[in-house]
Amino acid sequence: MQFKNIVGLDSTKHHLINLVAQDRIPHAIMMNGHKGNGGLPLAIAFAQYIMCTNKGTTDACGECSNCLKFSKLQHIDVHYSFPVISDPDLEPLSVNYLKEFRASFVKNAYLDITTWLDDIEAGNKQANISAKECRDIIRKIQLRSFEGGYKFLIMWLPEFLGKEGNILLKLIEEPPAQTVMIFVTENYDNVLGTIQSRTQLINLPPLQDAEIANALIANGVAEKTAMQIARITEGNYTQALQAMHHEEESHFAMFRDWLNVLFTNNGPGITNWVMAIAEKPKETQKQYLSYVVTMMEHLIRTKWVGKENLLLHPEEDAVLEKMILKNITEEKANEIAQFAADNIYAIERNANTKIVFHSLSLQVKDVFAGKSLYL
Ligand SMILES: [Zn+2]
Repeated sequence: MQFKNIVGLDSTKHHLINLVAQDRIPHAIMMNGHKGNGGLPLAIAFAQYIMCTNKGTTDACGECSNCLKFSKLQHIDVHYSFPVISDPDLEPLSVNYLKEFRASFVKNAYLDITTWLDDIEAGNKQANISAKECRDIIRKIQLRSFEGGYKFLIMWLPEFLGKEGNILLKLIEEPPAQTVMIFVTENYDNVLGTIQSRTQLINLPPLQDAEIANALIANGVAEKTAMQIARITEGNYTQALQAMHHEEESHFAMFRDWLNVLFTNNGPGITNWVMAIAEKPKETQKQYLSYVVTMMEHLIRTKWVGKENLLLHPEEDAVLEKMILKNITEEKANEIAQFAADNIYAIERNANTKIVFHSLSLQVKDVFAGKSLYL
């Protein structure tokens, strides 16, 4: 995680970089921001910046061996602690959920507690950071760092510590040399006062609508939609990303409808579908075509490596299965992807979109029917 991957927070990034440049890195920091503000990725980017062996004046290099380990949360001297559930078969220690935590974070660095608890199938079970976890932290932090430099504790959501958190006080007050503890809270008032008073508070500024909108546009969202999402989500980038995925869901609905009319060779249905997409903004049309390309790549990979290795929505999975059953081979999928990709350029060159989508539909219908142009 590099600073450049984090939305907004420029003044905080600046402050953190200065702390490193001036050799004034505090040993215990409390990053305080609301949900979706980016506290967790910022904490990780800060640790990575400190550890980067080839850092610049504004960011970590992203390429040295330390940076590479950070990209998968696999640096051996960085310990993560976060809320987990009590399970009769598994001690409530973060380390027992580390694999899931890495996967969730890699999937979405703007993870929130709801998604996290869903990811570990917590159901109605209460999550917390337990006394056992606190003792495990003390044990780990007192070990020497494996690589001879700094070691870190990054605790996500210390508000999930009960009174047990007081077990950590001595460690926070007198940590071993070259230890940095970063706590990331979304609810500062619920953090133990004893921990509040022993950590250096860094308040994260709220994200601006423009910052969120720009980040969404960089992710391929159309400008108007990006601004709408930014306004609705009020500085919560986690929510903005979720809203963006809803947009993608509408791509899925369009794709499913398209396949239905094409497979059944439903002429009026095809025309209606074309009219509907031709009215959408160009950016949405291009995104839809990119989505078709991605789905065809997924289809090919499903055939090659099996669907369990792909992270697809079950509905998308079901549609691809259906296509495979209807004898859409890798070659056909590849051809459809090629047609879709070609038409992205056609739209960029201001082609008439009704004609683009109509002729694309006929091409794909022919591929389905085995009347391929290329094969
Ligand atoms: Zn680096």
